[in-house]
Amino acid sequence: MRHAYVKDRRLIRFDQLQLAAPILRAVTEAGYETPTPIQSQAIPPALEGRDVLGTAQTGTGKTAAFALPMLHRLATAPRPKAKGRNKPNRPKHARCLVLCPTRELATQIAEGFQTYGKHLHIRGVLIFGGVNQRPQVTKLMRGVDVVVATPGRLLDLINQGHVRLSSIQSLVLDEADRMLDMGFLPDLKRIISYVPDERQTMMFSATMPPEIRKLANAWLHDPAQIAVAPDEPTVDRVAQSVYFVDRPDKPDRLAELMRELGMHRTIVFTRTKHGADRLVKQLRAREIASEAIHGNKSQNARQRTLDNFKKDKVGVLIATDIAARGIDVDGVTHVVNYDLTHEPETYVHRIGRTARAGASGVAITLCGRDEVKLLRAIERLLKSPIPVVGNVPAFAESSAPPKRHSGYRGQGGKKTGRSRSGKPSHAKAPGRKPPRKSAGRKRQAKRY
Ligand code: AMP
Repeated sequence: MRHAYVKDRRLIRFDQLQLAAPILRAVTEAGYETPTPIQSQAIPPALEGRDVLGTAQTGTGKTAAFALPMLHRLATAPRPKAKGRNKPNRPKHARCLVLCPTRELATQIAEGFQTYGKHLHIRGVLIFGGVNQRPQVTKLMRGVDVVVATPGRLLDLINQGHVRLSSIQSLVLDEADRMLDMGFLPDLKRIISYVPDERQTMMFSATMPPEIRKLANAWLHDPAQIAVAPDEPTVDRVAQSVYFVDRPDKPDRLAELMRELGMHRTIVFTRTKHGADRLVKQLRAREIASEAIHGNKSQNARQRTLDNFKKDKVGVLIATDIAARGIDVDGVTHVVNYDLTHEPETYVHRIGRTARAGASGVAITLCGRDEVKLLRAIERLLKSPIPVVGNVPAFAESSAPPKRHSGYRGQGGKKTGRSRSGKPSHAKAPGRKPPRKSAGRKRQAKRY
């Protein structure tokens, strides 16, 4: 039977999704009132067993979009019977596998499964590198239903004979573009070769470049294709501005802006791990406390930093892209592009950290003279110039920003970045209270 959404795609309630009652209860308890667009579009075909190819950023609610149908399947399909009278009725091998690029994202996905599956008797294991493998192996040996993993460690455990994927019925590839960027393609191919061909596959990616399409053609069968509001990206809720600042002046300028704008819960993006560590020191010298999160830190250190940030013990998180991807922190007021990214799409991911779950925010870019080309590439992707605050120096004048796109509904848009009131467009996030006045592997990109 086709679901109601086919007739009317504007699903407005979770109970219209026909999820098992314990899942619905958990969703209600999580405080979700209505499905997000990715959820209302992905869940019905996924419940029918179809493959799903979704273009969606983290922050759109995509974890529940794949976790809810997977849990529904686990809840409604009988578990294979265990042999022996006193043996618990546990499957020896997992039935669901979720692959994602980073430990942080894996942790969040596992938390999602716990939240949505809390009224089901489902066991999961979280597998990632950089920590002792023994607890992971112990859990696997006891029997699990769901495996959430980063590809490298999972492949290690497969090679050691601790994981069998021959019972997998549902496979999710989350943040597929990022997994490719991080060089995980060979690992992914190996892992997928161990998963039965008879399976449901759901692939999510923030961007859909040709390589991802090619993989989708190879790994997915006639998928339901879903793009979350491609003409209405999250960036529309972010007040963006750019300051032209020569590199040596960036630490001072950043410290000034932090004080001026009362930046409270802020993520500052640097391009490299060393850049992140250096900036922590530079800010400390300017009496601003911050902590860095990047791939050189141990898993425990990263988790501690993230917890400190979430609990407001530290207001400024300095992050590299890979470490920050998928970090689920609500209430981030400001994002700072301290270094510009070479991938325009990454800019969108970065600033999306401050526009999660319907919130709005402020994104500030510090553009050096060697970064103007990168800025223009971002503006081309956005189809709009990012409003400039302050003077446009000669080095930036030589390359003009693109013309404003007629369909663009972003913030600001005026070249000076001044609103009618004369205030910089970033001074206050739309609809937000004024911020408080306080302050392993080689291919996993060496730099990050
Ligand atoms: P995700 O894109 O899965 O990382 O989700 C982003 C955030 O949105 C998380 O904090 C979720 O708890 C939250 N979220 C997901 N679905 C909903 C929903 N239907 N209503 C409200 N919040 C949601």
